[in-house]
Amino acid sequence: MQIISSEFLVSNTEVAKCPNNYLPDYAFIGRSNVGKSSLINALCNKKSLAKTSSRPGKTQLINHFLINKSWHLVDLPGYGYARTSRNQKKIFQKFIILYFKERKQLVSAFVLIDIRHEPLPIDLDFMYWLGEKKIPFSIIFTKSDKLKSDKIKIQIENYFKKMSDQWNFFPNHFITSAKKKNGLENVLTYVEELNKLK
Ligand code: GDP
Repeated sequence: MQIISSEFLVSNTEVAKCPNNYLPDYAFIGRSNVGKSSLINALCNKKSLAKTSSRPGKTQLINHFLINKSWHLVDLPGYGYARTSRNQKKIFQKFIILYFKERKQLVSAFVLIDIRHEPLPIDLDFMYWLGEKKIPFSIIFTKSDKLKSDKIKIQIENYFKKMSDQWNFFPNHFITSAKKKNGLENVLTYVEELNKLK
């Protein structure tokens, strides 16, 4: 699939106010700075459809984009840790949780992981939670241009080895680089296949 048209529809923090037109949602989520905005822009072949971290005042919203007039690409806020006086607290905004629990049009989530990073509890916990809620998801490894191919293989093997502590099977995964535009077609083909099943 090629993305011929992509347009911003609406931003909000309430599931009830998300587009109500029954088109399928594909939600992109990950830790801040994982490369989510860059990936979305690369997928859509646009410079600044999604706001990249370098832009100040980045808002924490559910952003719906209409793709090829037939599906929604949903840009969800990056999650992370907040420092509290004693320790670090995991941050998954309530409205993100509600989005996943209540959004009937959601077909699949894409959890973005920086390929250079070791498996991090916040990502593993989030995927475990998706699994518990029976929400389909794939992993998109980002920034693959930063590693050589043998190192990519090792990183992914290590990732799934760690996941095997919690999972009997592994999710679909994609290896991408927004910078080199690698792996993007595979993600879009996957969405296309899922859309055909609808
Ligand atoms: P977000 O916070 O998840 O939306 O991340 P951004 O898309 O704003 O990217 C965070 C940083 O990673 C920026 O400095 C990007 O230039 C960089 N980045 C994003 N994608 C890639 C990639 O595929 N390759 C490389 N080398 N850098 C990337």
